[in-house]
Amino acid sequence: MTTHTANRPALPAGTVWPTPPGALHVRPLPRETAASYLTRLAAAYHLSAAHLLDGLHITATGTPTGPPATEIHLSPEATRRLSHFTRIPITHLTRALPQLRPPAPSLANTGAHGTATTRWHAFETALQPLPACTACTIRRSPHQAVPAWIHPAPDLPRIMICTRHQQAASDPRHPTPLDIRPVPELTRTHLRARRRPTATSLTWASTITTRWYDHHQHLHQRWHTRLDRLTAANPHIPPPGPASPTLTCRNLITYPETLTLAAALDRLPPRPHTRTQQSVFLHDLANRLNLPRLAPADHDLLWQRLTTR
Ligand SMILES: [Zn+2]
Repeated sequence: MTTHTANRPALPAGTVWPTPPGALHVRPLPRETAASYLTRLAAAYHLSAAHLLDGLHITATGTPTGPPATEIHLSPEATRRLSHFTRIPITHLTRALPQLRPPAPSLANTGAHGTATTRWHAFETALQPLPACTACTIRRSPHQAVPAWIHPAPDLPRIMICTRHQQAASDPRHPTPLDIRPVPELTRTHLRARRRPTATSLTWASTITTRWYDHHQHLHQRWHTRLDRLTAANPHIPPPGPASPTLTCRNLITYPETLTLAAALDRLPPRPHTRTQQSVFLHDLANRLNLPRLAPADHDLLWQRLTTR
């Protein structure tokens, strides 16, 4: 990025020349974090995000450690300058990057602008974004591909799945997505999920399948096979340890059964249930999960969901 100031007339004190639009086209991914997009944009110009912000005359505070650990908040004026530099309309930019806020219409109409500031801040670990599909990222970056980080869709378990390129992620500790071609049921589940309205029982279902997974209940063998296939196809997954694949792949591995359970719980009549209703439900659920039978013990979370008022 270059700015040519030698032949310009003097400006009133405190005024900065607008940076001309950049020559490269770097498109944001849907739900990409602002820190990820800024880092990719800067990398296209062989700059750090801090240097890019400096070039756009945007004041930054906080410590940028880069995605996925940190996010960046842009003031409306900083967003406007980013939109000008990238030649991407503000409405497109703010739709893709949920962290950005557009300038207030009243300011935009009068030409008055606030200050261009940004603030880096750390993400809580549980809210860190996930690595985006690398094939989708390459299509949105000129010359070189820098990893992108996106927020998971709000209406599904905490996962990223690209059905077109069969890549998925369920934990920010994986620096790149996993190849899920050996587990095609994940792609099939995701395609089905996108066509259906969100199950209102999703939180309950996720909590139950997480417990089943951690306690090796009901579907242990099937999930173990899935984990084996994923780790065999993805040798870069960290070996067993604090971030073992057993833990970091959990949301992905349980995904099909979580959605099946959520849909079944959605169909339950209001509590309290009769014994017959409970039996019919468990029989039907076992069928849908391809299990010969399902007989949860008293301490099973599913049983608690069925019996708690
Ligand atoms: Zn993709």
